[in-house]
Amino acid sequence: MTSFKDFGLADPIARALLDENYHTPTPIQAQTIPLALSGRDVVGIAQTGTGKTAAFALPILNRLLANRIRPQPKTCRVLVLSPTRELSGQILDSFNAYGRHIRLTSALAIGGVPMGRQVRALLGGVDVLVATPGRLLDLVQSNALKLTQVEFLVLDEADRMLDMGFINDIRKIVAKLPIRRQTLFFSATMPKDIADLAEAMLRDPARVAVTPVASTAERITQRIIQVDFPAKHAFLAELLKQEPVDRALVFTRTKHGADKVVKGLARAGIAAEAIHGNKSQNHRERVLGAFRSGQIRTLVATDIAARGIDVDGISHVVNFDLPNVPETYVHRIGRTARAGAEGVAISLIAGAEEMGYLRDIERLIRATLPREDRRTQGGREAASPAPQHRPGRPAPRVHPHRNNDGAPVSKGPRRRRRGGGNHGAAPQSGRNESARPQGGQADGIQGVAFLHRESRPKFKPNRNRRPQH
Ligand code: AMP
Repeated sequence: MTSFKDFGLADPIARALLDENYHTPTPIQAQTIPLALSGRDVVGIAQTGTGKTAAFALPILNRLLANRIRPQPKTCRVLVLSPTRELSGQILDSFNAYGRHIRLTSALAIGGVPMGRQVRALLGGVDVLVATPGRLLDLVQSNALKLTQVEFLVLDEADRMLDMGFINDIRKIVAKLPIRRQTLFFSATMPKDIADLAEAMLRDPARVAVTPVASTAERITQRIIQVDFPAKHAFLAELLKQEPVDRALVFTRTKHGADKVVKGLARAGIAAEAIHGNKSQNHRERVLGAFRSGQIRTLVATDIAARGIDVDGISHVVNFDLPNVPETYVHRIGRTARAGAEGVAISLIAGAEEMGYLRDIERLIRATLPREDRRTQGGREAASPAPQHRPGRPAPRVHPHRNNDGAPVSKGPRRRRRGGGNHGAAPQSGRNESARPQGGQADGIQGVAFLHRESRPKFKPNRNRRPQH
């Protein structure tokens, strides 16, 4: 399938694709769209960045258009469930963009904001409702919404929804849906519990899968800087002043740590803002907007808060703390070098524990990262041997959930680029090769490429808990 024209999409949708500057379907779109247009249920293994939103939105819009009926009050024809508020907003934006030449009614049902507006938006019924599971159930339970007219159900990022504890909510929602419906189910990974969920929800599904997006790692210069622990704040400020930063995303392991970094930078005269789970949705949106527009050049975030951030033009990722889950490192550095750009990922390491994390990361990416030692003599002497822990596992003394502040945040503006964006990226030249992973670039890239898909935490999440979302 080389062109969107081959799908025979209705004219208003084809025009919207031209507006969006989409000409060639991505692999997940090429596989999914014809199946979904034919009315089949589809289970897809694909991660964000592959173009999967259009893969489900386009055929659904086409089918809505083929059967134009007015939604009944307090109902929706299309229900999309997504794990986070920000991803939900993003999906809704996509529906509205692809449906801009259709008179489409749509609404968002997400937690963290008052329900009143959502209740009012649903009064007259909508074509498309994008929701997080918890808020959707609240709306159903308060009789603001009936699910009896749902013709199309989409589950997006099913594995993340399960990891976030939404399994029971999803089961309750599905039980309220008509049996006759089309279901499109997407997940970045397909372990047994996700496959079981799909099995229970789908009717004779067609299966599609795309390989993970090509790694961005080959365009990221990774640096490890060993510093004395007390000097980290001052060092970060110095680094941000010296480096040619367009936009820097600084990661900390904890919310408190993020606030401290912002204060430390402010003392050094660098304006920065933090996003994490303790901040309000309004604050996050405002800060992300300022970051995207370039008003703020330094954003400090925890891992969960940064999860949906997909801002092009992040020149630097700085790990103020090294993550204790090695896959998180891969996710973090993948925030830079987007859309064909190059990027720099700098990790500040202090103490034996972080050294242990570094070794786990290096084992995972199968590369030794070049180290710069900026410790003082005293700091070097104080450093004790790294604690022993099993390869690829979080260090035992750290609680992985501490990483999670339950505040997923925006992917940023829709990127005007091919899904995945990194396919066929030429290896860069003219860079300081000493700053690249040693131990075989191919090896390192393979390791990263494999894990670049949304990986699942090593700890066993409590999938029966109702998340605070
Ligand atoms: P998604 O995986 O749905 O989040 O999409 C990733 C990015 O790719 C979004 O910014 C989309 O706007 C963009 N995109 C999706 N499909 C295409 C396409 N066929 N051509 C160009 N860009 C696309």
